[in-house]
Amino acid sequence: MLIGQGIDAHRFGGDRPLVLAGVQVPHDQGLEAHSDGDVAIHALCDALLGAAGLGDIGHHFPDTDAAYAGIDSRILLGRVMASLAERGLAVHNADLTLVAQRPKLAPHISAMVQVLASDLNCPAERVSVKATTMERMGFTGRGEGIAAFAVVLLREGSED
Ligand code: MG
Repeated sequence: MLIGQGIDAHRFGGDRPLVLAGVQVPHDQGLEAHSDGDVAIHALCDALLGAAGLGDIGHHFPDTDAAYAGIDSRILLGRVMASLAERGLAVHNADLTLVAQRPKLAPHISAMVQVLASDLNCPAERVSVKATTMERMGFTGRGEGIAAFAVVLLREGSED
């Protein structure tokens, strides 16, 4: 088993819709980013890459590369999963925490789990998405942006 963690944060702004874990969440602001700003998937990609000892998302998909401008982060996740598969690695489980003062994420959690379970080739029971606030403290508490923390466990081989 190989464990990995990933952390990311993005600031509200720009004119994109808010997309978290591949799910469009109705809100008056999206997140600023070179890609689609899916902070949840970015943290998850870093956790996967970290577990496999493959560096970080910025190394694989630099934000100076026009190829990644506005890209759907699920495409990046798909590429990360492909490089894990090449190394004989599969996801055993994933646990993700989103930190946002607003919008309320609870109504969207089960849709996020479905997306991630599909992209991670993992049963939904082993994909966890949680949401919390920081009680109005810090940058998330002031509503400046959203942060995401991910932990994953990889195993060798594709069988459960
Ligand atoms: Mg990011």
